[in-house]
Amino acid sequence: MERVAAHGHMRMVEAGEVLIKVGTPITHFYVVGSGTLEGLQPMENGETTVRIITSGQFTGEVSMLSGRPALVTLRVRDPGEVIEVDREKLLSLVQTDAELSEIFVRAFLLRRVALLSGGFGDVVLVGSNHSSDTLRIKEFLTRNAHPYTSVDPDRDSGIQDLLDRFRFTIADLPVLICRGTAVLRNPSNRQIADCLGFNESIDQTHVRDVAIVGAGPAGLAAAVYAASEGLDVLVIESNSPGGQAGSSSRIENYLGFPSGITGQELTGRAYTQAQKFRADVAIAETATHLDCAPKAYKIQIDSGEQITARTVIIATGAEYRKLPLDNISRFEGAGIYYGATFIESQLCEGEEVIVVGGGNSAGQAAVFLAQTARKVHMLIRSKGLAETMSRYLIRRIEDSDRIILRTCTEITALEGNGHLERVSWRKDQESSETHDIQHVFVMTGAAPSTKWLSGCVILDEQGFVKTGPDLSREELAGAQWPLSRPPHLLETSRPGVFAVGDVRAGNVKRVASAVGEGSIAISFVHGALQE
Ligand SMILES: Cc1cc2nc3c(=O)[nH]c(=O)nc-3n(C[C@H](O)[C@H](O)[C@H](O)COP(=O)(O)OP(=O)(O)OC[C@H]3O[C@@H](n4cnc5c(N)ncnc54)[C@H](O)[C@@H]3O)c2cc1C
Repeated sequence: MERVAAHGHMRMVEAGEVLIKVGTPITHFYVVGSGTLEGLQPMENGETTVRIITSGQFTGEVSMLSGRPALVTLRVRDPGEVIEVDREKLLSLVQTDAELSEIFVRAFLLRRVALLSGGFGDVVLVGSNHSSDTLRIKEFLTRNAHPYTSVDPDRDSGIQDLLDRFRFTIADLPVLICRGTAVLRNPSNRQIADCLGFNESIDQTHVRDVAIVGAGPAGLAAAVYAASEGLDVLVIESNSPGGQAGSSSRIENYLGFPSGITGQELTGRAYTQAQKFRADVAIAETATHLDCAPKAYKIQIDSGEQITARTVIIATGAEYRKLPLDNISRFEGAGIYYGATFIESQLCEGEEVIVVGGGNSAGQAAVFLAQTARKVHMLIRSKGLAETMSRYLIRRIEDSDRIILRTCTEITALEGNGHLERVSWRKDQESSETHDIQHVFVMTGAAPSTKWLSGCVILDEQGFVKTGPDLSREELAGAQWPLSRPPHLLETSRPGVFAVGDVRAGNVKRVASAVGEGSIAISFVHGALQE
């Protein structure tokens, strides 16, 4: 307490005094000397107590690091004395005092987990689990670790009262009730981020040392190293932090996690770590154009804003390949999925599912889904898995009596009214057979997300960004490379613009290599900033 007190001041507090108001930015951190504080959540008929904080305990959860609006009101229950510390000073303290940092950051994370599992949020989602937009909104909130309560009208008949209160009909769903007041009808991810104030505390106008585009493992690793080494860093993420890895049910080959870790957990921790070191992470903002004029680079954002930075790290990874079927987009999120996490596994509990693809991500999905689904049909176009999948996964697939491997097989048609109902497939180019299956997991690899670079840096034939020694003399001359030195290892054909992770030509498509490249790119960024 003495060490904390050195960064703040003692003050008396009166019963009933509000120290932090729900929905407003958190400005202070408190340690209770005497008396008690209570964390309160507004409810329809008053408030509910989420937590009591007594002498020797401290306030805060993850929003303390991110600067996002408070999820609970903090009020004095019994008068006493507290140490009051500015949020800015607390952030400096967690960076300089490793012991206190461990205690605070661990508590902030665990308290967020408790808020998540208790559904203590300022958001209520009303929508059917069979709707693709309900699923999208759930994934967005979950991957941003924002607690919410969800109500499914298919299961909860009492829902009409709630809808009547806001003058909505079933046809308006999904509806998101945000902070108890704003009611959003089928909101985009960006509207949700705006309503919950995800980007409120981020200044997007000043020139950054480094702008990182993409918050998958590569971008998050770059953010952690850049921010911890004192650089002014802004990360721009079009969806939620975590990238492809965030959609992995269990990553078993990442060093240091012998029993595996879910992609959501791994990348969620990395996101908190980046915020701890004061990296700004703008959520639901898409980079649409990179202006490569020399000196400060400019990144155009879909919101109309422009980010200026002295160096840029391209970490936009890759997007899932789709099946070549005309009506596939009609069923995306309503029977067609590109990731197999806990949310999707709940939707197909006890049912038959299809996993398409023969790589490691498909193998993981099949093994994971076999825990809850009745039967998993694994469809691959080749004759076997040996050339495309790790041996440990092949063995688990062989050992599972719920997984049926169907070689030389491809999907030919999807049918359904709103939600997917039937799937046709054919083997060895013979005639198709149709099955009543409502869930298909497409795990057929990914293509690089590089369209937004608009010719600014040199790409290979598949659209991946070329870097360092992969760039030939002729290519550099064509791109008017201006320096006497050749590009650094991860540097593109523009000085100070780097590419890391899955988006980079020649990258090994693994979490570990994305993290490795993201972190070493920062040493080159330091050099480029001094040039
Ligand atoms: C289901 C699944 C399971 C996997 N399992 C494993 C595993 O067990 N072990 C392993 O080592 N690897 C695994 N992988 C591979 C691993 O996840 C990837 O190699 C890794 O995520 C690549 O990281 P990245 O940061 O380079 O790119 P990504 O993870 O693709 O992240 C890129 C990010 O950039 C964002 N973005 C894209 N375009 C823009 C834009 N224009 N503006 C702003 N943001 C943008 C995206 O939204 C995304 O968040 C798996 C992949 C999948 C799909």
